Amino acid sequence: MKRYDLMIATKNLNKVKEIKKIITGYDVNIMTFIDFPQMPDVVEDGSTIEENSKKKAIETAKYTGLVSIADDTGLFVDAINGEPGVFSARWAGEDATYMDNNKKLIEKLSGFKYEERTATFRCAITLAMPSGFFVTEVGEIKGYIIDQLRGENGFGYDPLFYLPEYKKTFAEMDMDLKNRISHRAIALSRIGAVIKKVIENGKI
Ligand code: IMP
Repeated sequence: MKRYDLMIATKNLNKVKEIKKIITGYDVNIMTFIDFPQMPDVVEDGSTIEENSKKKAIETAKYTGLVSIADDTGLFVDAINGEPGVFSARWAGEDATYMDNNKKLIEKLSGFKYEERTATFRCAITLAMPSGFFVTEVGEIKGYIIDQLRGENGFGYDPLFYLPEYKKTFAEMDMDLKNRISHRAIALSRIGAVIKKVIENGKI
């Protein structure tokens, strides 16, 4: 069986681990930005997460000459017109920490009742070929933003994102459960099906 190279546009080894899990059974050699230290940063200036993931995947595929996948994620809170959305990473400022962003979210939603605190995590993942051909898949999960931090696991907005079906925030779940049900898990399994098709058609 031929060995394929697949470039993942990230330095985040957790993302690499999650992607490896969905393509077991195929002989794929995974590369990341760590293997291309000279590559200039892709500026994430799109107005949607779909655009950002597409730009990152296409620029990475062109630079490396490899089939590439890239993701972008946002938290969309209904009561504040979908904020922080595409700006989720740096919402509270250029050097914002997860805690800064969470504090801003708690403040912005003060006065809103539980029923008004609906929110959606959305993750877009694009697979791009060096030719410019691309496919984007999106995964999402709905929950509520609570008014205080709960749980120690995960990262980002996890301690505020509450899922009533599980009676837990993402930060109170064990990672295996979060990684089975999350926005990223859904988008990843959809893009995994695309990766497998590309491998089976011999075009990767
Ligand atoms: P990125 O596109 O994966 O870098 O995500 C952008 C921002 O969204 C991150 O900096 C986090 O604040 C937030 N975020 C992304 N994924 C998650 C998640 O699974 N849980 C909580 N916050 C997340």
